[in-house]
Amino acid sequence: MTLAVGHVCAQDTIKMSKKEAEIKIPRPHLMPVRSLMEDRGNVLDTIVTQSPGVKIILFDNNTWKYYRDPEVAQQQAVFTTNWNTEVPNPFRTSVSELPDKISIWVVDSLSSYRCPNPVKVYSRFGFRHRRRHQGVDLPLHTGDPVYAAFSGKVRMSRFNRGYGNLVVIRHENGLETFYAHLSKRNVEVGDWVEAGDVIGLGGSTGRSTGPHLHFETRYQGYAFDPEWLIDFEKGELRHRLFVLHRRYLSDNSRYVPETEDDEYEIHIGDEKAYAVADSIQAVREAEAERAAAEAAAAKYHKVRSGDTLYGLARKYGTSVNAICRLNSGLTATSTLRVGKTIRVR
Ligand SMILES: [Zn+2]
Repeated sequence: MTLAVGHVCAQDTIKMSKKEAEIKIPRPHLMPVRSLMEDRGNVLDTIVTQSPGVKIILFDNNTWKYYRDPEVAQQQAVFTTNWNTEVPNPFRTSVSELPDKISIWVVDSLSSYRCPNPVKVYSRFGFRHRRRHQGVDLPLHTGDPVYAAFSGKVRMSRFNRGYGNLVVIRHENGLETFYAHLSKRNVEVGDWVEAGDVIGLGGSTGRSTGPHLHFETRYQGYAFDPEWLIDFEKGELRHRLFVLHRRYLSDNSRYVPETEDDEYEIHIGDEKAYAVADSIQAVREAEAERAAAEAAAAKYHKVRSGDTLYGLARKYGTSVNAICRLNSGLTATSTLRVGKTIRVR
């Protein structure tokens, strides 16, 4: 493939404008991420992969996706350090101890994103009437579903005088998201949620003048304008890789659209993170091919009355042991439950 900039050999340095570069050099870490919109079918099966903690889920509508095993994910220190189920800010870090810029992968090939409430921001982050406002207000109707933006573990689910019914989710990358004024909380402390799970219903509990979702994003206990992360009107996540500047962690640092120079700076500064992510991606792609082949070869059987493991093994040309290996919890002496789907190949 040749680039349309004169006669250049592959070994030559290719000079192009920033604009051209933006088009020709793919920078997936800067690409916006669309909100999950619909539910994937029902889970049919999970397949383990060579990487510990990574599984593949097969759905009954013939789609599949990577899945981070919550059991493994939850063992990370981020879910035990400064873990407090009662106070909104359990951190004691001073903002001056934090680096100037912190690169945070918000969404990778194992995770997804759903906009908590895609709507024009009604009240922005920052001071209003001399009172600080540590999140954004997103109008909704009482009873509307509120979605978890990313996967994570519920750190708080309780009533608070100001926040009303509040759910706080801590994510693997250390970010926390707050969902306040809910009419109903659907999750409990310690629950693992996936992006798009309905964690509660919108309302007007606590210090609130009408139904809305007060949504906060925090790092080390410090709130920053969620609009740095999410374009609420479009419902999109702005970047996969979020570069959190320390100056954002201030009560009056409102989102301003990034200039082209800022974006370029982000690109240069994150070359390393990008390279690492790239190599991980390559491994996963190889894994995906294997999984797709395995998924294509997989066969399922819905248990009917009278079915036995021995009978199924004969019918599908396999062995009882092989079927047991494919279905966790199944042993040669298990009784088959009528209506249950088991994997036979
Ligand atoms: Zn608010």
